[in-house]
Amino acid sequence: MSDCLFCKIIEGSIPSDQVYEDEWVYAFKDIHPKAPTHVLVIPKLHVSTLADVRDSAWLGELMQRVNHVANDVLQLEAGYRVVINVREGGGQVVFHLHVHILGGKKLEF
Ligand code: 5GP
Ligand code: ZN
Repeated sequence: MSDCLFCKIIEGSIPSDQVYEDEWVYAFKDIHPKAPTHVLVIPKLHVSTLADVRDSAWLGELMQRVNHVANDVLQLEAGYRVVINVREGGGQVVFHLHVHILGGKKLEF
């Protein structure tokens, strides 16, 4: 998707602070962090929003990467929060599916 911000980040035409990459996902630091650690995990395949996903195996692959980034790359042993905002009402601003990983402090609701 040529007009998608996160597709441009995956391509490298918009710079980002990468923390992990494999054939499925790209993970990078959020530009406006809401916790000491705030990383976004995005699938390399452009999907607009979680509500569009019909393939449970694909979703499993994505969430397994989220686990790997949070536990093995970021080493958030004390715990963390995983958030997916869905559509405008859920606070989604960028319409390329992304999983927020928030940690590094005790998170209150
Ligand atoms: P949403 O509200 O759509 O769930 O989250 C979008 C997130 O993307 C926000 O937390 C925002 O700070 C982050 N973001 C928006 N533009 C950029 C950017 O150009 N670079 C990075 N690293 N993060 C961005
Ligand atoms: Zn995209």
